[in-house]
Amino acid sequence: MTDNEHTATTEGDSESTELCAQCGASIDTSEWHPVVADDGADGEFQLYPFCDETCREEWE
Ligand SMILES: [Zn+2]
Repeated sequence: MTDNEHTATTEGDSESTELCAQCGASIDTSEWHPVVADDGADGEFQLYPFCDETCREEWE
């Protein structure tokens, strides 16, 4: 009754927030925000979210 080491994490809420790929600011994904889709060198498809268009332009 004392085994608390396997308590489930509470990180599920993190899926509703993303970090700006340019400045690292948290983004409310319920609001519109710029997203860039890019294929990496190994062809792995990735999405880069940005907090605003200024960060998107600076990132490119
Ligand atoms: Zn940003």
